[in-house]
Amino acid sequence: MKKVILIKYGELTTKKDNRKFFIKQLKKNIFDKLSSFSFDIIDDYYRMFIIPNEDELEEIVLKLKEIFGIHGIVIAYETQDNDVENIKNVCLNLMKEKNEKTFKVITHRSDKSYPIDSMKMNNIIGAHILKNTNFKVDVHNPEVELNVEIRREGVYIYNETISGLGGYPVSTLGRALLMLSGGIDSPVAGYLTIKRGVELYYLYFESRPHTSIEARNKVIELARKLEKYNTHGKLIVINFTKIQETIYKELDQTYLITFMRRKMYQIAERIAKKYKCLAIVNGESVGQVASQTLSSILAVNDVTNYPILRPLCSFDKLDIINISKQIDTYDISILPYEDCCTVFVPRHPVINPNLKHIYEEEKKYDFTSLVDEAVNNAEIVDLKEKISDLL
Ligand code: ATP
Ligand code: MG
Repeated sequence: MKKVILIKYGELTTKKDNRKFFIKQLKKNIFDKLSSFSFDIIDDYYRMFIIPNEDELEEIVLKLKEIFGIHGIVIAYETQDNDVENIKNVCLNLMKEKNEKTFKVITHRSDKSYPIDSMKMNNIIGAHILKNTNFKVDVHNPEVELNVEIRREGVYIYNETISGLGGYPVSTLGRALLMLSGGIDSPVAGYLTIKRGVELYYLYFESRPHTSIEARNKVIELARKLEKYNTHGKLIVINFTKIQETIYKELDQTYLITFMRRKMYQIAERIAKKYKCLAIVNGESVGQVASQTLSSILAVNDVTNYPILRPLCSFDKLDIINISKQIDTYDISILPYEDCCTVFVPRHPVINPNLKHIYEEEKKYDFTSLVDEAVNNAEIVDLKEKISDLL
């Protein structure tokens, strides 16, 4: 008997009018992700079936676990023989592999020409299992749900669902620009944004020689980890050295981080517009550090009207760390290379920056040409190339 993979859409089921569009994108993302495998897809409004080469099934399931928009992954047995005796026996064999004690049969008969209705099928199959195993029926809270889908293409039988990532298919909600540093937070912010169907481009500010090539490589590695979920991202690297040095030299040093971050946001907005990103995303979490008090966020946000998404704004650090471990970015993030934000950090950074003071200070130096230069010299890093080729 053939094994096929059945995909459950999950949250997509709430999208009435756009549903077809979401399913189409999900299918495209699946084809992208599984490009090295050979398989067929059959889909309809409720379900998608992947018909794999059986020896590649396990590997395909692992890949499907990395695709947003998939709520559940089911390995189903397909039988072309829709005779009720055959269906009963396939069901029984499948249930015999289980050690649980209670079950319920759920039949879907999308092929309405099939002569036995769903309720009757539930009873027939249920009775057969009761007679031949120690299982008991529990219709309210069964340990095992035995599903039987009777379709024109065949009958699909399964009793186990593997959780998918949920969320929306990447690219269904447009593109955003993630400010990606080498820290723990921004990769997690990126992951949670991709989960909502948003495709990401990545933006990294570096200050060589104050920051090292290792710090850049770390960001490349982090972007690659996110590419597992995102797939078509670009990493844009901004040379921030001159701006940072000039701020250090010309402006009030206790406000250094505020000025730096204002310049980062300005540049991020320009890059976002250039690459058709509809929002900027960062890893700020309220109160985590001095630059993330509400008044600091206000002072920095003041330079732009662009939407800034902060998926971590209310997260505790420990929760962020847990996600970073799940998505495999934690070990990279804790490598000890300095980020441009930490290089010139003042000993007592201001916690409640004052906008009036900021405007006064910023009058002391016109950064226009330095910002233009940084934007114009933005470098695109190919995330698919080997690190050694990038040096
Ligand atoms: P992270 O752990 O993500 O580095 P953090 O807690 O260290 O964050 P900050 O250094 O204040 O916090 O940075 C806040 C956010 O600003 C980061 O999450 C990131 O989105 C962005 N950011 C900071 N430094 C850079 C950088 N060098 N390049 C790109 N984005 C940056
Ligand atoms: Mg940081």
